[in-house]
Parts: sequence; structure tokens; C-alpha cells
Amino acid sequence: MAVRDLSSLLAEPGGVAGKRVFVRADLNVPVKGGVVGDDTRIRASLPTLRRLCDAGARVVVASHLGRPKGTRDPAASLRPVAAKLSELLGRPVSFAEDCIGEPAEQAVAALPEGGVCLLENLRYHAGEEKNDPAFAQALARLADAYVNDAFGTAHRAHASTAGMVPLTARRAAGDLMNVELAHLRVVLEPRRPLLCLLGGAKVSDKLAVLEALAKRADVLAVGGAMAYTFLRTLGEPTGTSLVEADRVADAGRVLDAAKAAGHRVLLPVDHVVAQKIEEGAPTQIVKQIPDGWMGVDIGPETAALYATEAGRAATIFWNGPMGVFEIEAFSQGTRAVARAVAESAAISVVGGGDSIAAVNRTGLAAKITHLSTGGGASLEYVQGLTLPGVAALEGA
Ligand code: AMP
Repeated sequence: MAVRDLSSLLAEPGGVAGKRVFVRADLNVPVKGGVVGDDTRIRASLPTLRRLCDAGARVVVASHLGRPKGTRDPAASLRPVAAKLSELLGRPVSFAEDCIGEPAEQAVAALPEGGVCLLENLRYHAGEEKNDPAFAQALARLADAYVNDAFGTAHRAHASTAGMVPLTARRAAGDLMNVELAHLRVVLEPRRPLLCLLGGAKVSDKLAVLEALAKRADVLAVGGAMAYTFLRTLGEPTGTSLVEADRVADAGRVLDAAKAAGHRVLLPVDHVVAQKIEEGAPTQIVKQIPDGWMGVDIGPETAALYATEAGRAATIFWNGPMGVFEIEAFSQGTRAVARAVAESAAISVVGGGDSIAAVNRTGLAAKITHLSTGGGASLEYVQGLTLPGVAALEGA
């Protein structure tokens, strides 16, 4: 079912002028000592907020920050974010000390047309993550219309992403959410060949996506520590690499699923190995991992192989580093893949903080079709799963 976008909400008879529009944003930015660090997510939320302000809405912004787990942890307060949002938006942003009840209702009642108010951290209340109906009701009391622009939490059925949505008469996807959905849909309905590059630490974390993409992708290229569990499945030596012994059978099932679909799974053919995951640890490049050594990155031959596939692909989806890319000496494989994805003429979608950081370091980020801000949500979406936060908007 279609999700309504912001333009159609604004174009409705009566529009949003004077109406309280509740925006579930993702303002989960790093804050240290009351100072906002990387403000990318705040900047990303500006287009939707600007459009609503310009249309005369009374804009009520809600977000989570960190993991306060139902307690009022001062370190997770959104107050510093209100100041930063005001600076970037170029308008005053008032702050409500709580996201429900008197403080929120007063702050919202005081909003002029085109005014913006930021509510305190949704996750100060356990009801948010539990999707508690009474908490959802309390949030819905603040809203004449609802806009979800927080793609990164759309895979969670929380009160602010799911529970409150049917309680509001009018609802829409914000611009950021809309762009995410449009680009990720390309992976579900790809121009072929579709190359999926998956890396990261654990098969167990990504098993569902591995299984789904083995069926969907013409070529699935695996890197990161996950690759060693796959190599173990094939009986190859893995030394002291991070192998999940209890997932060897699962990895085998992924390989079988790809084979049954007539798809290829690529695994590393050479490796950067070290004896410790440590800056300055001696390394070697090997075809077979020796006893006492662990794979910490894909080797140059593997990087070249994956780059060749990137050059042939019409659509690329990449999530997860190819090695321990936090350590410079173990980051070459991830960097090479980032460069190859950026240089490919394919439609390219990159998700996950590590992969995006790697792309940014190449200076070629502008060549990627889409950098997805929602790591977990994008992985669920490309599996073809229904995201609760998206389902809640459907049929509005
Ligand atoms: P994920 O969150 O699943 O995407 O995993 C990212 C983490 O996987 C990063 O912190 C990497 O350092 C780690 N990682 C990638 N390759 C390896 C490897 N070969 N050995 C150990 N950790 C790895």
C-alpha cells in the first residue's frame, strides 16, 4: 500500500496551517558535556521541518537520544539538540522538559504558526520502546497530524513510530523517510545484475539478511569476520579468526540458497592476517590462514575481485566493513570496496555507519546514489520485510 508523502499532506484541503504536526525525527546525535558533536542527523531533518514551518504548521518534534532505558538520564537529554536545531533552522525552537503531560502540552499550546518545539527524549519513558498504549495515547494528544521522518527507527514498533500513528487522523512520511524508501526500493526491484556486498562481525547478526540476499542478489560478496564462518563451512583453515562455530551450518544454508537460485556467493580468496587485533601488529597477506593467525581484512586479490563485480553490476547494495577497518593497517579492503562502489556506474546504496564512514574517507561519497542513514532498518527493508513504522503510515 502506498505511503503518503509530505507534499500530499500539505496539499490537502485546509493544509497544515495552524495545525499541530507531530514529527517523529531522528535526532539521535552524539552529545558530550552538553555539546552536540556530529550534527549530520539534525541537518538531515531540516527539509521536512522547514516545509512544515513555511506552511504555517505548529511543529512538534520528537526523538530518542541514546539508550536511557526509561530513566531521566541527564546525559541523554535533548536540550542541547534544541539549541543546535534552532541555530541550523534559523528559527527559535522551544524545549519541553517532558515529551508527554503538562510540560509537553503547555509547550505545544504556546506554539505560534510556523513555530517549532522539541520534546524531551522519548526514551525517558519505558512506554516508548514497549509501545505502551497509554504512552502512545499521551503522545497522540499533542498531534493533529503525524509525520514520520525517522527511517532509522522504522523497523521498531515503538509508541512514537507505531502505537500513536493510528490515533492521528492524518499522517505522512517526511522527506527523509521518503527518500530512503525510494532508494531502498531499488534494491528490492533492481536493475540486474544486483551485487550485494555484506561485511561486519557476525553471521548471527546478519543471518536473515544473508539468507534473503542470497536469494535476491545475482552476486553476494561476503567480507569481514563473517567470511571466516563461511570459509569454515567449506572446510578451509581459519586459524584464530572470529568464527562462530554454532553458525557454520547456517552459513552452509546461505550458500545452498544462493546455489538453488542460480546465484553466486563470493568469499575472500586472500586475507590480511595478524596475530592480534592491535595497532602496529605485524601482518601478512596469505591465501590460506596459518595456525595462530586471524583474518583481519580481505586481501588485495579479493578486493580486486569484488571491485570487478562492482564494475559489472547495475545495482549495488553494500552494508558492513570488509575488515577491522578502525585500524588503519586493516582498513585497505574496506577502502578499496568503498572506492569501487563509488566509481561504479551502478545505482549504489550504502548502509551502516562503518561503510558510510569508509565511503566518506574516499572523498567519493557524492558518487554514491544513496547513503542510507538507517543501518538496521535498511537491512530489514532490503530483505523485503514490512517495517512497522512504514506499515503504520500506509493507508493514511
Ligand atoms: P557490524 O556491526 O556487524 O557491521 O560489524 C562491524 C564490526 O566488525 C567492526 O567493528 C569491525 O571491526 C568488525 N570486523 C570486521 N571484520 C573483522 C574481522 N576480520 N575480525 C574481527 N572483527 C571484524
